[in-house]
Amino acid sequence: MHSTFQIEPLSDFSRPESRAAMKSALEQVGRRLGGNYPLVIAGQEISPGGWIDSIDPSRKTRVVGRCARATPANAEAAIATAVQAFPIWRDTEPGRRAQYLFDAAKVLRRRRFEMAAWQVYECGKQWREADADVAEAIDFCDFYAHEMIRMAVPRLRNVAGEDNSYFYEPRGVAVVIAPWNFPLAILCGMTTAALVTGNTVIMKPAEQSGVVAAKLMEVFREVGLPPGVLNFLPGVGEVIGPLLVGHRDTAIIAFTGSLKVGLAINQQAAVTPPGQHFVKRVIAEMGGKNAIIVDDDADMDEAVTGVVESAFGYQGQKCSACSRVIVPEAKYDAFLARLVAATKSLTIGPADDPGFSVGPVIDEDAFNRLHEVVARGKAEARTAYAGDVGALAGRGFFIAPHVFAAVDPKSFLGQDEFFGPILAVIKSRNLDEALRIANDVPYALTGGLYSRSPAHIARVRREFRVGNLYINRKCTGALVDRQPFGGFKLSGIGSKAGGPDYLLQFVLPRTITENQMRRGFAPEAAAGE
Ligand code: NAD
Repeated sequence: MHSTFQIEPLSDFSRPESRAAMKSALEQVGRRLGGNYPLVIAGQEISPGGWIDSIDPSRKTRVVGRCARATPANAEAAIATAVQAFPIWRDTEPGRRAQYLFDAAKVLRRRRFEMAAWQVYECGKQWREADADVAEAIDFCDFYAHEMIRMAVPRLRNVAGEDNSYFYEPRGVAVVIAPWNFPLAILCGMTTAALVTGNTVIMKPAEQSGVVAAKLMEVFREVGLPPGVLNFLPGVGEVIGPLLVGHRDTAIIAFTGSLKVGLAINQQAAVTPPGQHFVKRVIAEMGGKNAIIVDDDADMDEAVTGVVESAFGYQGQKCSACSRVIVPEAKYDAFLARLVAATKSLTIGPADDPGFSVGPVIDEDAFNRLHEVVARGKAEARTAYAGDVGALAGRGFFIAPHVFAAVDPKSFLGQDEFFGPILAVIKSRNLDEALRIANDVPYALTGGLYSRSPAHIARVRREFRVGNLYINRKCTGALVDRQPFGGFKLSGIGSKAGGPDYLLQFVLPRTITENQMRRGFAPEAAAGE
């Protein structure tokens, strides 16, 4: 069946009406900051034992909202509810389940600028970044709904006297554990995939983005999902995460986040406690140490622009961000000079003001950690550019872009994921060496190449082994369906989000064979007795 899925267009902020809509949403949301967001279990709002303050990273004295801090007892209750709701949801017609997602997409479209405004305040996303995140959430709803409709058609292999049917059914209770950096889209994508395939869900957002998650929960409540099918359980990962993951009734863990937590979840999920009569399925999307290779003959202007956008967009806090650029010796100095000039021209300031290109990092932990990375980088490599945040330092969690040159590819700057606006520029002798360096990290998420040589492009397509490779464009901003997203090696164990195989991870295939010869079988007689 041909899918009619269409990508949601991004807002064009060069148009006055889009700017006015976003400005007005920011003003309205600005007046609603500081609210409380309880848990939702079995359709009921539950006030927890404690709250987590969510802070605006652009203005650290501003509380965006207080989100419930679930206790282990709340987590138990959420799982029990999801177990109870499962049989009816499993047996709900797939087309009906898909309709809930189409309806959610409509609500998100209606609340589009408002949803973006919450992200600007809670996560320090610039307008365009926040808008793209909402568009992606809409895409996940629509795309997975279409995919479910496609998958719901059983595969029949009927022969004379025997009917064979192959079809999918859901696994059970899914725990969705999400990061803060795409606070709506990633949470929405994992949740809708689990729901539409017929699993019941515990939605556990990141501590830093609980308010945006609560807004997503409002959307699902508005479309009328039956109580208990989706439960909202914000809380501290270290406190409730292990309980949710290890619980004998949890069938699926859909996780996106750091390598460290992803591996711990994978390990814990491999243990099969007494009474758990199935093996858990873990879907984990993790980190990256993404490189862009610049070729000898690359268009330098395009390469510089693409690298700057990929490295410093949303302050480098994207799993897809470029944190290494590999440049041939002959072009190294010229490229570096232009890269530094372009980086210098970035303006730093609060995310709600569209005049700035770089905003704050997510929280104080990230701010402190990145300061340490910068200090260590200065000691181990040559500082080509160290931006300065000036007076913004006292106001929010601002870290200026940094470019380090003459980076040893084996050093920590060349190997570790930092999740901030820090870029390593690495020298290579030729394409062979560039490819070796590019592949020689534990991750395989995104990568890029700027080149005008068809032979080099063909070779890099074959030999630069990453989940998403981009040629002559930036390496961030994957679109649902068009660029299914996700990595391998230590970047992930799942198949790609927004791709044709994603939903398969949430289901079990079954085959039913029926002998139709009916020798000696008289159902009417039996029924009539
Ligand atoms: P994180 O791993 O710190 O947290 C992610 C989630 O895990 C949060 O909800 C957190 O509360 C929870 N958590 C923490 N400890 C837990 C535990 N012991 N058990 C269960 N859950 C626990 O990651 P983050 O800082 O929120 O996000 C940044 C990371 O996410 C980066 O490494 C980035 O590359 C990665 N990421 C990957 C992708 C991808 O598609 N591959 C997308 C976005 C982000």
